[in-house]
Amino acid sequence: MTRNANSNLSAQMAKWRSDFPVLQQNINGHPLVYLDNGASSQRPLAVIEAERHYASHLHSNVHRGVHSLSALATDAFEGARESVRRFLNARSTREIIFTRGTTESINLVAQSYGGSQLRAGDEILITTLEHHSNIVPWQMACKAAGATLKVAAINRRGELDLASFKALLSPRTRLVATSHVSNALGSVLPVAQIVALAHAQGVPVLLDGAQAIPHLSIDVQALDCDFYVFSGHKLYGPDGIGVLYGRESLLEAMPPWQGGGDMILTVSFTETTYNQLPYKFEAGTPHISGAIGLGAAIDYVTQIGLKNIAEWEQHLLHHATAQLSTIEGLTIIGTAEDKASLVSFTVDGIHPHDLGTILDQSGIAIRTGHHCAMPVMQFFGLPATARASFAFYNTMDEIDQLVTAVRSAQHLFR
Ligand SMILES: *Cc1c(COP(=O)(O)O)cnc(C)c1O
Repeated sequence: MTRNANSNLSAQMAKWRSDFPVLQQNINGHPLVYLDNGASSQRPLAVIEAERHYASHLHSNVHRGVHSLSALATDAFEGARESVRRFLNARSTREIIFTRGTTESINLVAQSYGGSQLRAGDEILITTLEHHSNIVPWQMACKAAGATLKVAAINRRGELDLASFKALLSPRTRLVATSHVSNALGSVLPVAQIVALAHAQGVPVLLDGAQAIPHLSIDVQALDCDFYVFSGHKLYGPDGIGVLYGRESLLEAMPPWQGGGDMILTVSFTETTYNQLPYKFEAGTPHISGAIGLGAAIDYVTQIGLKNIAEWEQHLLHHATAQLSTIEGLTIIGTAEDKASLVSFTVDGIHPHDLGTILDQSGIAIRTGHHCAMPVMQFFGLPATARASFAFYNTMDEIDQLVTAVRSAQHLFR
């Protein structure tokens, strides 16, 4: 890429940045440099406005009323479901279930699919790169059924060891659950190969897309995955809303998860019949404004174009990797060939928490800790790392500020 093309893209991206009110403020006397997008990204005005419009003009309960407001709210809510369907290229809105987020989506599958399918001696296969949300629900499901959780290995670069994955895929495997992108290291997993290998054995695959959805364009039909899950708040949308995509034939066969209103057709004290998909899995009043906000976030991201987003973020990643690497005593953890735009690192002699606190004094927000991925930290023999994660609204200048602040922190600790 030429310098010119790069600066065109840079100018193009900078325009979108002004849509984010949170980014226009000072923190500790400095303009906020927000590099914690992997934990939660910021919301553009379009999303804030969509939620405000709903609360100001459309609010009512969905799927229930004969009155006009309920019909308007239902249309907006179901319109958001259609936006999600289109975004993922799912075949039908029956395959799009609204949840509270990635964590709830995985728990739904673990309890409904796992609870009905798992028998003693069965296995669930995950990888070392998982977020706790894609470990603990499977441990719980395995424990309840007397099944075993198998964990595929990674290499020192933080890439999945496909040989280990193949070796652990067995006739007893009932489901493969793996992250699409690692939140701790940024590694992009070879999900096409994972799905092909699993399907060759008749094993369905759940992909945890929490870190992939803001960076990569997702086509669940092309991926051929059986479940895909993500959270709104990592896609410039509201918190408390997320999605479970599920292959219709699997969802049809799965028992309901939670019981309550909306998920039923008829109820008596002797028998209840369940509603059709997707409502079967949406008990109770849903997060209506959250879904509408998520729909607005998807429209917004689509307007920018995931291709542009990915291209700019790769520039940010390469610049950050190159510049941070010039700092003596700094080690980048996670050097996968294929990485999303985040950098995990340690600095000799400075605990990541202290580094995070010092950077915060300059208005720079990074994540420090185990990133809800303790097994990854254990693999590298670390208690924690510092993690800078980039969104399309970040700039080269912000990365330079990060690098300068890390150098200053080193001087403080000398
Ligand atoms: C953030 C994250 C989760 C959990 O998402 P919630 O929104 O907290 O439910 C799960 N997996 C990965 C890879 C994540 O990054």
